[in-house]
Amino acid sequence: MKKLAAIISFSLVWQQCFCWGFFAHKKINNYAVFLLPPQMLVLYKPNADFITQHAVDPDMRRYAVTEEGPRHYIDIDHYGKYPYDSLPRKWNDAVAKFSEDSLRENGIVPWWVQTMLYRLTDAFKEKNQAKILKQSAEIGHYIADAHVPLHANSNHNGQYTNQQGIHGFWESRVPELLADKEWDFFIGKAEYIKDPGNFIWQRVLESAAASDTVLKYERELTKEFPPDQKFSFENRNGVVVRQYSSAFAKAYDAKLKGMIERRMRQAVFAVASFWYTAWVNAGEPDLTKLSNKEFSADDLREFESLNNSWKNGKIKGRDHE
Ligand SMILES: [Zn+2]
Repeated sequence: MKKLAAIISFSLVWQQCFCWGFFAHKKINNYAVFLLPPQMLVLYKPNADFITQHAVDPDMRRYAVTEEGPRHYIDIDHYGKYPYDSLPRKWNDAVAKFSEDSLRENGIVPWWVQTMLYRLTDAFKEKNQAKILKQSAEIGHYIADAHVPLHANSNHNGQYTNQQGIHGFWESRVPELLADKEWDFFIGKAEYIKDPGNFIWQRVLESAAASDTVLKYERELTKEFPPDQKFSFENRNGVVVRQYSSAFAKAYDAKLKGMIERRMRQAVFAVASFWYTAWVNAGEPDLTKLSNKEFSADDLREFESLNNSWKNGKIKGRDHE
């Protein structure tokens, strides 16, 4: 019994991973590179590896910095019913109505994406290669998070409905199982976004609207599924972990009728389109003539310390799982 308890508690920690999961975040940033026009590919393609690896920096920062957590989600159901009209979409209006503290408490992802867009646009204007790559990798993360239904619902890990683990199930387990083998990421081209604020709010509202289905279908499937087949046990580096079985994951994906693939594809398109929009808004600088090609000592120190705090640490502030 003791052993079983140890296994289960470990698996909960394990499942309590990260937003889209490291796997999906990296894929999303990586695929987004190939939606860019040739004038941008000259920079992004040779640096695709950086953009891919650093897609997860914002999640690692959650282990080092308390303010980081709220940038990844919005518990929008705190603001009434869909489409949550009581919540002003403009930051200053929202602050005036609800106070900055309470906004942060419920998450700020749609506004944070816009802050990141300014930063990336500035990096293009400065023609600063290191900054462009860093901001591109990071904005990709927050945009992708905004596409995850459970990042727009206060019941983000099914904790109110006895569905703990569903967060990582939707955004990590299912994509890890199916994205490479079965999903299609031929998406076309990045497009210019005229109103980025409206664009990201629409994605957040879609996420919020889908979140009930994400929870409901898992509950329904659990009732239909033989209880001893919902989870499987796997040996990972010598530790036995419990996870949703691949049969359950596939049945869930089928019941959602491609929702996870669709959201992942939309995230890829949105990430590429935000990069493209920042570049256009900065006056389409020539990306073969950039300065600051090497990362500064500060940047390198930051990358290292993010890695270390993630390896050793606990998430600061509220865990959004
Ligand atoms: Zn995140």
